[in-house]
Amino acid sequence: MNKIRLFLLITLCVSVLGGYGLRKEKKVDESLFLNEVAPNVEFTGKGGIPPHYSSKEGIVAFNTYDVAPSIRGYAGPIKVLLALNREGRITGIRILEHKETPNYVHQMLKPEYLRQFLGKSINDPFEIDKDIDGISRATVSVKALAETVRKSSREIASRVMGIEVRGEEARETHNLKWILYLVFFGFSFGAYLITKKSERYLRVRDAVLVISILLVGLWLSSPFSILHVFNIVLMRFSTDMLWFVIVASTLLSVIVAGRFYCGWLCPFGAVSEFIGRMPFKKWDIPAHVDDKWRNLKYILLGLITVVVVISGRVGFGNYETYVTLFSFHGNVFTWVLVVIGILANLRVERFWCRYLCPVAALTGVFSRKDQGYVSRYDCPMGNKPVPLISECIRCNRCYRKS
Ligand code: SF4
Repeated sequence: MNKIRLFLLITLCVSVLGGYGLRKEKKVDESLFLNEVAPNVEFTGKGGIPPHYSSKEGIVAFNTYDVAPSIRGYAGPIKVLLALNREGRITGIRILEHKETPNYVHQMLKPEYLRQFLGKSINDPFEIDKDIDGISRATVSVKALAETVRKSSREIASRVMGIEVRGEEARETHNLKWILYLVFFGFSFGAYLITKKSERYLRVRDAVLVISILLVGLWLSSPFSILHVFNIVLMRFSTDMLWFVIVASTLLSVIVAGRFYCGWLCPFGAVSEFIGRMPFKKWDIPAHVDDKWRNLKYILLGLITVVVVISGRVGFGNYETYVTLFSFHGNVFTWVLVVIGILANLRVERFWCRYLCPVAALTGVFSRKDQGYVSRYDCPMGNKPVPLISECIRCNRCYRKS
């Protein structure tokens, strides 16, 4: 394990250094799209405070990032080119740049979705599910887009166009999600501690796994993903509380309880485990072959770290089955992986977690030793006696207090 830790650490350092040296952030030239947001309007050059383009027709165009740079989606700001008319109504909109995960935001990028902003007044509330359509599984990004448009257009209207702004600030509507996640995390961690004390409570874990599929997977659609980690490495933080809670709680849990996240909170792990419990005879994989293949996930994590950090494109690291499954969106390659990742559990317990999952590799590398885990015949990870702690998902079936 020490060799693997060293391999990943060197890979990360080399990629970060290489990334800063080789990566060139391409800046989108917004002036190329002025004609798209305001056809047949002739603009002056960009200028003023906040920076904007003006025209004799009274239409003002601007890049929202110049006006409200602090609003962030899941992976940084969403930069939008907007055009406002004399009455303070939006007459043109185009998303210039974003770093959100395409699986979640593909609907938000469609022209038919963006069309709902046209004709809106700066005094409108721009509230999700009120006057702006929400998109389940992309609430953080959609909220950031609406807030960016509302804040920047009001700022330009009052400071550049001299229009009085009367609209109220939008109400915070998504607090419930991070609070629910935190409550679920607390409940699961409490159950984890109780099952360490006595086998009698092991059934509680099944209830936690069912809730993780329903809550983390299907409703929040926010499983912890290696993309969170890449966004942190690339300094693309979100201002969303749910993002912060998921990242902070998972990373803290790794320090305290190793792969607790994999064994209790990961919805794809839960699906895999339930399928693995179906009465199909499991393949008897020799220990030395199994051990060798388990290293594959570390190699894959190292490879995608190099590719993502050097290219700066988080989407290149997106081969995670849970992102595709719970966003209900992916390409042929990722859907094939989902099908393989699910069906393989019939023959090999927790196939994806054992051999391929990048989150398993990351949490495994940072798992601290605990002699209490001895493994037993029904280990959901198919561990042999005296398992490596990096392969234990802390289901606590075999935990022995010393
Ligand atoms: S080693 Fe023990 S605690 Fe770890 S996954 Fe296997 S049975 Fe569960």
